[in-house]
Amino acid sequence: MSAPITQDVHTIPRKLPEMPQNLVGMTREGMRDALIAIGTPEKQAKMRVGQIWQWLYNWGVRDFDAMTNLSKDFRAQLATHFVIEVPEVVTKQVSTDGTRKYLVRIAGGHEVEVVYIPEKDRGTLCVSSQVGCTLTCSFCHTGTQKLVRNLTAGEIIGQVMVARDDLDEWPKSGTRTYEARLLSNIVLMGMGEPLYNFENVRDAMKIAMDPEGIQLSRRRITLSTSGVVPEIARTADEIGCLLAVSFHATTDEVRDTLVPINKKWNIEALLNALREYPKASNSERITFEYVMLHGVNDSDEDAHRLMKLIEGIPAKINLIPFNEWPGAPYKRSSNNRIRAFSDIVHAAGYASPVRKPRGEDIMAACGQLKSETERARKSKRQIEAETGIARD
Ligand code: SAH
Ligand code: SF4
Repeated sequence: MSAPITQDVHTIPRKLPEMPQNLVGMTREGMRDALIAIGTPEKQAKMRVGQIWQWLYNWGVRDFDAMTNLSKDFRAQLATHFVIEVPEVVTKQVSTDGTRKYLVRIAGGHEVEVVYIPEKDRGTLCVSSQVGCTLTCSFCHTGTQKLVRNLTAGEIIGQVMVARDDLDEWPKSGTRTYEARLLSNIVLMGMGEPLYNFENVRDAMKIAMDPEGIQLSRRRITLSTSGVVPEIARTADEIGCLLAVSFHATTDEVRDTLVPINKKWNIEALLNALREYPKASNSERITFEYVMLHGVNDSDEDAHRLMKLIEGIPAKINLIPFNEWPGAPYKRSSNNRIRAFSDIVHAAGYASPVRKPRGEDIMAACGQLKSETERARKSKRQIEAETGIARD
């Protein structure tokens, strides 16, 4: 006779063992709590956070064993509960103009693009905040991507860390100079709408600005939004970085088709939010991004209307020649048209730089980002329903 099958409930773990947590992307408070949870005495926790923080974000260390001011036992304890993980660089392309585009893989096998743009006096990293984008701006390649998920704070700051790896920009032992940095600026202008992922973007940018690590000034970080009005003031209050707005049109009719979020928060609502933006001043002007689309939004009347609309807002206008992508339903305005538009803006007293397309040969220019693995497209009908215009 076989023995009755019994199950001793005490041998069943009440909770499955937790996956090791990634230290990268934790706020200082979050890391403190996590250290206390593994038994670090409360009195020591803040100091330990400071030590780990410096290894991660000042020295770029990825291995607990290299954290030599921590005891061997503590390092072993860290290694059993935590990991130090940054996105994996799958491919790196270098443009003839020096622009570097990285395709990085994050949890779940998703891939996002990160672009490094070297200039004479600065080096800018264009960082992604989401896989794809839920919005469907009709001129933007990213907006055709079907799959969307928010990046974690670790995946966002991780993009900065892998770029610094590639640029060999972690200080060497004994040096702590931050002069002449290769990566001196961050723009949140890659894939995704950063204000739809506010907390993670905020936590990542706080890490980028922290004086004991990557140490970028808040004035060297620019967040670009398509116009998520209720989150705009928080950008000043909780991050403190500069703001750019994808404006792109001077009537609601046209903006509804180009930037469909305009149907929710129209030009007037957006401008009201910008007028009240706590940080706007002459030294911290709001950038109005304006993509130049042939015959759509590039007339002299548009330029004059734009000047009227933004009256009273400390602003500069960044004109972006449209970057084409396969199947795009628009054409770039001619150089003469862009110049004429820029002259009107300039004559009204605003700076009106024309953004030079960078890395076009590797599809790294604004609005061209879209990873090969996420090629699934929204259906034609869905795009038409959302934007009111046909494409493909
Ligand atoms: N989602 C955010 C940030 C990412 S897009 C936003 O929309 O602001 C960064 C900038 O590139 C935006 O101003 C966007 O409107 C612009 N852009 C998108 N597609 C473009 C294209 N094909 N050519 C030129 N600029 C484009
Ligand atoms: Fe999204 Fe910005 Fe592209 Fe619009 S322009 S689809 S908001 S990434």
